[in-house]
Amino acid sequence: MTGVISMSNPAGQSSSLFPNYARYSINLVKGQGSWLWDDQGNKYLDFMSGIAVTNLGHAPEKVKAKLKNQLDELWHVSNLFQIPNQEKAASLLTANSCADAVFFCNSGAEANEAAIKLARRYHQKIQNNGRFEIITFIQSFHGRTLATLTATGQDKVKDGFLPLPAGFKNVPLHDLDALKAAITDKTAAIMLELVLAEGGVLPVEAEFVQAVKALCEEHGLLLILDEVQTGMGRTGKLFAHEHYGIEPDIFTLAKGIASGFPAGAMLGKAFLRDAFSAGSHGSTFGGTPIATAAIIATIETMLEDQLPQRADEMGAYLQEQLAEKLAGIPHVKAIRGLGLLIGIECAEPVSDLVIEGQKRGLLFITAGPNVIRLLPNLYVSKEEIDQAVSIIADVIHDHTAIKKA
Ligand SMILES: *Cc1c(COP(=O)(O)O)cnc(C)c1O
Repeated sequence: MTGVISMSNPAGQSSSLFPNYARYSINLVKGQGSWLWDDQGNKYLDFMSGIAVTNLGHAPEKVKAKLKNQLDELWHVSNLFQIPNQEKAASLLTANSCADAVFFCNSGAEANEAAIKLARRYHQKIQNNGRFEIITFIQSFHGRTLATLTATGQDKVKDGFLPLPAGFKNVPLHDLDALKAAITDKTAAIMLELVLAEGGVLPVEAEFVQAVKALCEEHGLLLILDEVQTGMGRTGKLFAHEHYGIEPDIFTLAKGIASGFPAGAMLGKAFLRDAFSAGSHGSTFGGTPIATAAIIATIETMLEDQLPQRADEMGAYLQEQLAEKLAGIPHVKAIRGLGLLIGIECAEPVSDLVIEGQKRGLLFITAGPNVIRLLPNLYVSKEEIDQAVSIIADVIHDHTAIKKA
C-alpha cells in the first residue's frame, strides 16, 4: 500500500469500509436547496439529488421543522403498537393515489420485495392457485436483495451471487409477443418501471403499458409498478402511472418519499388487503414515528407547493434548453425523459464527463455507460437550469474537441 493511494482515494486500501462503491473523491459536508458544499469550500449545483431522493432540495424547511418536533417527542416504538404518524402517512398516500392500503419499509428493494411477496401470497392464500412467477423486463432495475436482483433485468447485479431464487423471468421491453410467450399458469404478476431509470432513462411506450395492463386483466395477473425512482413528483405527476391512464394493482415507492430520511412503501388495492394478514410480513423499522413524520411533511409540502406540476414545467424547459444548446453535437444521440428525470444518450461512455462536470461545479450521474442522467430537485429554477445546461454543453463540447485533437 502506498501513501499516494490512501491520500487520493480515501475509500481505498486504508478505509474500514467494503469497497463496493466506486466513490468520487469529493467530501460533501453541507446542503441547502439546489446547492452542496464540500470540505474545501467548493460549491456545487446538484443535478442528481442523491439519485432522485432529495426531491424537495437539501434540508427543506418544512420537513426539517417536522423532524425536529418529532425528535423531541418520540423516535421508535415497534409495529406492535398503533403509530398515528404511520396511519396519517398511509392515508395521505391512499387519498392521493389509486391505492387503498400501504405497507411501510426502509428502502426501494424492500418495497419491491414486499410487492413480490404480496403477489405470491395473494395467489397462494387467497386465490389458492399456487402461482409464484414474476415477469420483469431486460434493462430494468428493482434492487439488490436476492429476490429483487433476480427481478432486475441486468446481469451485472447478479454476477457472483448464484444461486438465484426461482420464479423470475426477464423479457425484452416493448416485445409483446415475448411477454405473452412468457406467461404460464404459474405466472403471478408482471413488474415494470414506467421509465427504466438505471437502465438508461428509457420511457416505456404508452401503448405497451396499456397492452401489459390488458394482458394482466386477461390472465388474472397482478400489475406491479416499481415507482421507486419515478414516484414522488419526479416525472411531473405525483406518480408516473398517472401519465398512462392505467391503475396498477401494486406500486412501490422509496427514494423521494421522505426527502432523504430512509423509507419505502408498498401500496396496493383493497382486494389485496387480506393477503397480508397479521404476522405474514413485517419490518422492525418500517414506518417508525420519525420516518413517517418525514413522509407526511414531504407529501404535504409536495402537494401544497404543486411540485409535480412544477416538475412537468421545469422538465419541459430543461429538455428544450438541452435540445437547443446541444443541437448539432454528433456525440449526442438522444435527449429523453419524463418530467425532471432526463437522459442524454451519447455515442461513447460518459463517466469522464461526470468528473469534468464536477470540476466545473455541477453534479450529475450516469444511467448505464453512455447516458447522462439529470435529476434536479423539483424546486429547481430556470436560472439554475440555464447554468447546468451551459456547463453540460461546455463539458460535451470540450470532450468532443479533445477526442478530435
Ligand atoms: C433505486 C431503485 C431501487 C432500489 O432502491 P434501494 O432503496 O436502493 O433499495 C429499486 N427500483 C428502482 C426503480 C430504483 O430506482
